[in-house]
Amino acid sequence: MTSYFMNTYNVIIDDTMIRNMMQTDMKESMDLLSIKQVLYFVFFGLIPAYVVYRVPVRYRTFKPELMAKLKQVLLLLLVMAIAVFSFYKYYSSFVREHKPLRFTANPSYWLYSVGYYINDTLTSGPIVVKPIGEDAKVKKDANTPSKLVILVVGEATRADHFALNGYHRETTPQLKKEEILNFSDVHSCGTSTAVSVPCMFSYYDKSHYSYKKGIQTENVLDVLNHTDDISILWRDNNSNSKGVALRVTYQDYKKSENNPICTEDECRDEGMLVGLEEYITAQKGKDILIVLHQMGNHGPAYYKRYPKAFEKFTPVCETNQLEECTKEEINNAYDNAILYTDDFLVKTINLLKKYESTHQTAMIYMSDHGESLGEKGIYLHGLPYFMAPSAQTHIPAIMWLNDSFKDRLNVSTLNTSKRWSQDNLFHSLLGLFNVETKVYDAKLDIFRNKIKE
Ligand SMILES: [Zn+2]
Repeated sequence: MTSYFMNTYNVIIDDTMIRNMMQTDMKESMDLLSIKQVLYFVFFGLIPAYVVYRVPVRYRTFKPELMAKLKQVLLLLLVMAIAVFSFYKYYSSFVREHKPLRFTANPSYWLYSVGYYINDTLTSGPIVVKPIGEDAKVKKDANTPSKLVILVVGEATRADHFALNGYHRETTPQLKKEEILNFSDVHSCGTSTAVSVPCMFSYYDKSHYSYKKGIQTENVLDVLNHTDDISILWRDNNSNSKGVALRVTYQDYKKSENNPICTEDECRDEGMLVGLEEYITAQKGKDILIVLHQMGNHGPAYYKRYPKAFEKFTPVCETNQLEECTKEEINNAYDNAILYTDDFLVKTINLLKKYESTHQTAMIYMSDHGESLGEKGIYLHGLPYFMAPSAQTHIPAIMWLNDSFKDRLNVSTLNTSKRWSQDNLFHSLLGLFNVETKVYDAKLDIFRNKIKE
């Protein structure tokens, strides 16, 4: 099975990939399953294993058997030594230049990674979550209205496929017409949902973040919660919040009981907007943060991610066997899914516009990571960060604010083409809500120095 996924999508089965596997659900897995995978397993796995199993093995008695084995081993070592040392210069530079090569050793690398994953994940005893920012307080200003912020966490969109970033196709026709701020040079913390989502909400930056630290430390939602002045709601149409929303109100929108816009096998992102107005009204003027975790461009079945009306680019790849489609068909399906996100984000903005007279409103969109679409034979995402192509790490990020919020934050001086990253989200959210706490670092808040006092 490992060899199937490595050969089909050019992925690597490291500890992060095993974490992705452990955190996935039936629907995500079904998106990957194919007849080819079953045949691959039967013909390259099961049948050869059966043939080997059927070979009669006749052992000698202990001593002659031991001697014979020793002879074999020594002979093999000798052959290997001759082979390696006669080309030593070549091998040593090759291995030095191609360190990731060891990631592709099958099955040793994934076996090693399982050990690594277990060591990193299983702790003896219950997980103790270290509180942070318990001193958090909203610095109130009697003259400003309440804040209503919707943070959309995107899924597997890459910056270079957004027309806003210069992509040759019009993939963001509706956003283009809105007064948005487009951050063109933003980079993810990880290359998979399981890393990026907890990391972007984490107090730790990319270089200090780890799975353990993430799960054992409160995140920015908890800090905002400590103020007792901000209502927080997380709606999820992805797999789940990856531990981020464990201590705030969480609603599963992959369930058709909650999400009113579902087809047989897919619930739509826009379903998360239904009923939000009732929620907002119920908060009676409190500051509000709503996080919407999208299904977005979750692969490989991009063609399932949008209603037919958004199939503007054709023909599309209608299989999860991406390597069987042309590059154009894959891009078409992928770009149609972006068109649907474009629509979803503008619907979100339109919802916020209803509150312009009563609230300071903002929509922030940030993808969790990017996606490879077959460049150099690489598909999907999840490669170790240092060797991942920028397609997997350069993410789109967009902001929309109403006039009173814009005015307070003086956004015209905001540097949207500067290199930002998911590290900035923690502090920028605190800045946006005017929260004072020891864990806030103004240097990482993109709104810093922009607030009119
Ligand atoms: Zn993701």
